[in-house]
Order: sequence, then structure tokens, then C-alpha cells
Amino acid sequence: MRVFVTRPIPEVGIAMLEKQGFEVVMNPHDKVLSTEELKKAVIGFDAILSLLTDKINDSVLAAAGPQLRIVANYAVGFDNIDLQAAKNRNIFVTNTPDVLNRAVAEHTWALILSVARKVVQSDQFTREGKYRQWEPQSFLGHELEGQTLGIIGAGRIGFKVAEIGKLGFKMNIIYNDVKPNPKFEKNFQAHYGGIEYVLSNADVVSLHVPLLPSTRHLINGHRLQTMKKTAILVNTSRGPIIDEIALVSALKDKKIFGAGMDVFENEPELAPDLVKLDNVVLTPHIASATTKARNDMSKIAAENIIDVLAGKTPQNAVT
Ligand code: NAD
Repeated sequence: MRVFVTRPIPEVGIAMLEKQGFEVVMNPHDKVLSTEELKKAVIGFDAILSLLTDKINDSVLAAAGPQLRIVANYAVGFDNIDLQAAKNRNIFVTNTPDVLNRAVAEHTWALILSVARKVVQSDQFTREGKYRQWEPQSFLGHELEGQTLGIIGAGRIGFKVAEIGKLGFKMNIIYNDVKPNPKFEKNFQAHYGGIEYVLSNADVVSLHVPLLPSTRHLINGHRLQTMKKTAILVNTSRGPIIDEIALVSALKDKKIFGAGMDVFENEPELAPDLVKLDNVVLTPHIASATTKARNDMSKIAAENIIDVLAGKTPQNAVT
């Protein structure tokens, strides 16, 4: 059995695949492969271990050949894969949920706190040698205790973000999802409401929905206008959930206090002027980037491949 890995990932999963006697071939160039490069690279493989940056469409699946059994995505999101095309060809698609919930939730909080307390702005000020005397009125931010946290998408990661808000900051939790979630409400005494209710009442809004046709530009210019002027918006889900041009405009006009973004609409490209704004904190899609989470993701992706190539149903099938 042959497995193609589209970029080097932590060794633990690779070692598991090799222990099974599989031939593991790694993309030797440490760069994202284009569709044409992928089509050439995957020919004849039984499994593809892909990353969120690989566009796995029908032409890539076809190029691999009829022996291809699984595309194991090294991510929770799978919006980079044409699921229908995989289904039509009886190819399993799997993801790596749960093991990164805490890592993503902690990074979400890193962004919330960085925006609330102007950490990046003040770091830059200090590095530039501008700290000459203690200032009574500079870099004033927000305290979060007792404020309202709005979670949009109360799934696995949204749950962990709410938990930290409730236990760590005694925040009131409000949320939106496709339907009410009794466990979420019981755990956090959370109130359910429509997206406008959450946006207009929350002091911090955190996005945790998957990228679907229904969530693309879920946060648009109109909805940004409904947020509090003092509010913070954080996105660690997928970039296209926010209309990034509209967000730049809202930040420029101080319609909200600030934003924290780990994902971007056309990443790695950024919307014009985003980097010029001092009320936004930007990180390069690193919310799951802890050694523990990435090792566990590598393990789970390998387990899914091992199961499928042994004729079993994988634990994390999304098709
Ligand atoms: P999940 O499936 O457990 O939760 C998603 C929640 O969103 C579900 O409760 C679902 O019902 C809800 N939802 C779906 N459509 C909605 C809509 N239109 N309106 C409101 N709610 C809606 O997923 P998860 O494991 O919590 O991950 C969430 C997303 O986070 C992933 O899909 C992925 O794209 C993203 N993610 C990003 C990183 C990163 O590195 N930045 C890491 C992991 C995951």
C-alpha cells in the first residue's frame, strides 16, 4: 500500500504508517503543491494525507487512479476537499477533530486578550524605544470579567472557548448555532439567540462555524454595524466567514473596538490596508500550532489511513 503525504508533518503519524509496511512518499518540496503538481504527485497512491492548503478536487482524485481509498485531511475543517466528488468515487474523507480543541481555544483567548489589552501595539511601542515614562492614560483597554461572550458555532471548539470565558473570566455566555444546544446551555447558563442578537449584545464575539455555503460572509458589513462600538471580534474558524473588506472598513471607522484574526478570506493574501490598522491582531493560521495538538493530529490522520487500508470504517469519516 502506498501513502502520499502532501507536506512534512510530525513524525509520529509517519512512523505509524511505515510500521504497517506502507510505502510513505512525502512531497520533498516544503511548499504547497498546485493542482497540476498534485495531479502528477498522487498517481498510483492508495491514500493521500492532505493539508488544508491542498485543493483536492475531482481532477486530483481522478489523477490518483481507481485504487485511491482515502483522503485523510490533517485538519478539522475539510472545505478544501470536494466531498461529493470523493463520495462519487467511494473514497473516504477523514479529518482530525477534538485533539486540537484546547489548542485552538487557548489561541482564541490569546487573540481576545491581545486585542483587549493592546498587547501587540504596546510591544511595538516598547521595542521602538518609545517607553520613556509611565503613562497614566496610554494603552487603555478592556477588562473582561463579567462581560458578555458571544459564541457563534457552539461545537467542539466553541464549547472550550466558552468554558474558559465562564470559568476564567466569569463571563455571561450567549450563543448562536443552527439550533439550541441543551448541553451548552446547562454547562454555561448560556442564552441562545439569532445571530443579530449575539452580535448586538456581546462584548466579545468569537466565531467557530465551519466554512459552508451558508456561513460564507456570515459576518458582513451590515452585521458588523450591529455590533457594539466597544466590542471585539475574533475569528479562528475560516477566513471567508467574514467579509474582510467590510471588516477593514469597520475597523478603520472604529465601528468596533478591535479584531483578532488567525484566518483570512484569501490567505495567505490579506485584504488591502489590514496590516496598517493598529486595532487588529493578526496571526498566520496557527491556532492549532502546539506540539501536542499537531502530534495528535498526525496520529489520528495515520489511524484513519490504517483503518481504511485494512478495510475498516475510519473513526473520523466525514463522507
Ligand atoms: P464543530 O463541527 O464541532 O462545530 C461547529 C459548530 O458550528 C456546530 O455546532 C454547527 O452546528 C455550527 N454551525 C454550522 N453552521 C452554522 C451556521 N450557519 N450558523 C451557526 N452555527 C453553525 O467544529 P469544531 O471542531 O468546533 O471546529 C470549528 C471550525 O474551526 C472548523 O470547521 C474549522 O474550520 C475551524 N478550525 C480552525 C483552526 C485553526 O487553525 N484556525 C483549527 C481547527 C479548526
